[in-house]
Amino acid sequence: MDITFSCPGCGISLEVESEAAGQQFDCPSCHKPIQVPSPASTERAGGPPASAVAPAASSPQPQVPKIEKRISVPVTSNPVESLIQKPNKSLDAVSRDQKPGLRVKTIRHSDCKEVGKDKFDDTVSEFLNRIGDNAVVSITPISYSYVEMATQKLVTDFGVMVVYRA
Ligand SMILES: [Zn+2]
Repeated sequence: MDITFSCPGCGISLEVESEAAGQQFDCPSCHKPIQVPSPASTERAGGPPASAVAPAASSPQPQVPKIEKRISVPVTSNPVESLIQKPNKSLDAVSRDQKPGLRVKTIRHSDCKEVGKDKFDDTVSEFLNRIGDNAVVSITPISYSYVEMATQKLVTDFGVMVVYRA
């Protein structure tokens, strides 16, 4: 059986004996080196070869999506949610625990007298230390009058009005 093929250099049709398959020789027309194809390769090129190749090509395809699923799944959603939630919680804590604003505390001298003792200075000092000196806005002396129960006389006394931040 002879092998018929075309020279890849000049396209001339050549015919050799089947024993020459795979051998290399110079084209008689263009003198370029050409290799004689094997009889099997010439049969596949001429006829329909697809039936044997198609199942081999389709079988590895299902493995590709499995690999992509393993790589692509997790990680991204959690940090975004936590960034949104943390500012909301801190705003709630501020509005519930502290209502920023000015407060007034009036301390009257007559409310701080006990029998034999005058605790007015102690009471004012204790209050100022409790709110802290950074919270004090102003301290204003006041005077007021009241009827003392024991003597039924009108008595003028004093006190302080403290304006502070809370
Ligand atoms: Zn040639």
